[in-house]
Amino acid sequence: MEIKKVGVVGCGTMGSGITQVCAQSGYQVVVSEINNELLNKGLASINNFLTKGIDKGKLSQQDKESTLARIKGTTNTKDFSDCDLVIEAAIESMDLKKKIFAELDKICPEHTILATNTSCLSIIDMAMVTTRPDKVLGLHFFNPAPVMKLMEVVKTIATTGETLETGKAFGASLGKTIVIAQDSPGFIVNRLLIPFILNAVRMLEAGVATREDIDAAINLGLNHPMGPLTLADLIGIDVVFFIANAIYDEFKDPQYITPTLVNKMVSAGWLGRKTGKGFYEYK
Ligand code: NAD
Repeated sequence: MEIKKVGVVGCGTMGSGITQVCAQSGYQVVVSEINNELLNKGLASINNFLTKGIDKGKLSQQDKESTLARIKGTTNTKDFSDCDLVIEAAIESMDLKKKIFAELDKICPEHTILATNTSCLSIIDMAMVTTRPDKVLGLHFFNPAPVMKLMEVVKTIATTGETLETGKAFGASLGKTIVIAQDSPGFIVNRLLIPFILNAVRMLEAGVATREDIDAAINLGLNHPMGPLTLADLIGIDVVFFIANAIYDEFKDPQYITPTLVNKMVSAGWLGRKTGKGFYEYK
């Protein structure tokens, strides 16, 4: 199936990036938010991202203008009624995602594929509130979506081969490298990343090394662009906590139990870069 028009639900960190990369790849995009203030904030972040691209010599003024001309912002879900694909990028809440999927199912034509950018929630649970579970899949982008090359395309037990192929072709058309994962909590990246981060925290708690030395060891010893504690601050300690607990709920595997330090940091609101304090301090 040919995708011409894409809908994106939510214009936050991920939704704005997904909107941008789709529009830059030539798709008409409708992006929704819960109110005009958040919509304008999200659209402004796309504008800023594109302006920075011009400053760095990566794109022209003409590229920016044609990208922005392909984006339509809305607060009315009915504007998804002529989309061929809708990607849900609202906050990580199953109740909210089910509500959005049920609404999209009523509004969108029969052929429309419904995708979620969830990091760890069960996609089949979202699919089952629709009349088209065969046309539901995960398209998991990484942050920042216009830059990161990877896309996890996630198949539920009900996703058909045709839907999967359309999802793969769509991801490739955005310039992404596709990996396929089953609808299993954390998919590939988070399932491996979360125990890695939690073990770094356990090591810090046990006094094996300082935060700086744990990060430097992984940065230089394994050639990772940043160490696990710096990465946790970037992701958000609350997000790490949420994903770890979601994976633990499914597998009951102790490696996903959050260490006390992580629990205390969440209680204290030390959530990383976004709050100015996590494992490190940020100005
Ligand atoms: P965010 O909080 O930055 O953005 C979510 C946006 O969705 C908010 O602006 C919110 O107002 C909006 N929203 C909520 N309900 C809505 C509705 N009914 N209609 C339209 N908009 C609505 O969150 P985010 O970091 O962009 O995460 C979005 C999704 O992407 C989550 O499922 C998250 O797990 C996933 N994800 C996040 C990252 C990341 O690094 N931030 C990476 C991959 C996947």
